[in-house]
Amino acid sequence: MVWRTARQLHDALAGRVLTRSDFRVPRYATSDLTGRTVSEAASRGKHLLIRVDGDLTVHTHLRMDGSWRISAANSRPLTDHKIRLVLANTQWLAVGYQLGIVELIRTSAEERALGHLGPDLLGPDWDAAEAVRRLVAEPQRPIGEALMDQTNLAGIGNLYKAETLFLRGISPWQPAGEVPKLDEMVELARQLLDANKERIGQVTTGNPARGQETWVYGRAGRPCRRCGTPVRRANQGQPTQDRVTFWCPRCQPGALPMA
Ligand SMILES: [Zn+2]
Repeated sequence: MVWRTARQLHDALAGRVLTRSDFRVPRYATSDLTGRTVSEAASRGKHLLIRVDGDLTVHTHLRMDGSWRISAANSRPLTDHKIRLVLANTQWLAVGYQLGIVELIRTSAEERALGHLGPDLLGPDWDAAEAVRRLVAEPQRPIGEALMDQTNLAGIGNLYKAETLFLRGISPWQPAGEVPKLDEMVELARQLLDANKERIGQVTTGNPARGQETWVYGRAGRPCRRCGTPVRRANQGQPTQDRVTFWCPRCQPGALPMA
């Protein structure tokens, strides 16, 4: 999702001069990028980076509800109170809604701002061995939480966590240090993300028909597609995160959530 958004922003903004910049967050309310050229837009994990000449990067993060919409310039009134950032050139208008992070940083300091992120599953410098090393660094941590921690590896959201664990037959509550073949698990997650990066919906079953897209994600109480056992749903992880998970207790035996 983020990878695709970055590409759309890149197509609309890169190589063009900004004719409008409107930061609707208090800290940057007076910042103005008008007249500067966007060099590129890229994703790093779930972070979006829009690089602008003059060593500036607009760093945004979608968090739970954020989105970007791109349309022809001047095509829409911009009165929605959910708007956090507007960037436009003579041809295109990019509007960020409900963004979890909006900040302006030095491009040369991006590493410092984002350096805590683990290897990016869709990045050019993806490093499976490093991701596995980070995952097992806290061996008691439930694997469902560890996979979502962007400091271990960057890019896995709730859906891909649940689907990867199902396909590997691993309970989300299994301690990370006890999960066999983590290298194969992260490779599977990378393949699922890669297969979906240009798609609007997210499909892990190979079947894009409505209601058939996933194995367990969003299917609480419905029969497992493999064994018929009702799919379970429970909260997992820190309260501030998107924390619900789904699993089949028969296909994914092992540790269970605390009652
Ligand atoms: Zn099952």
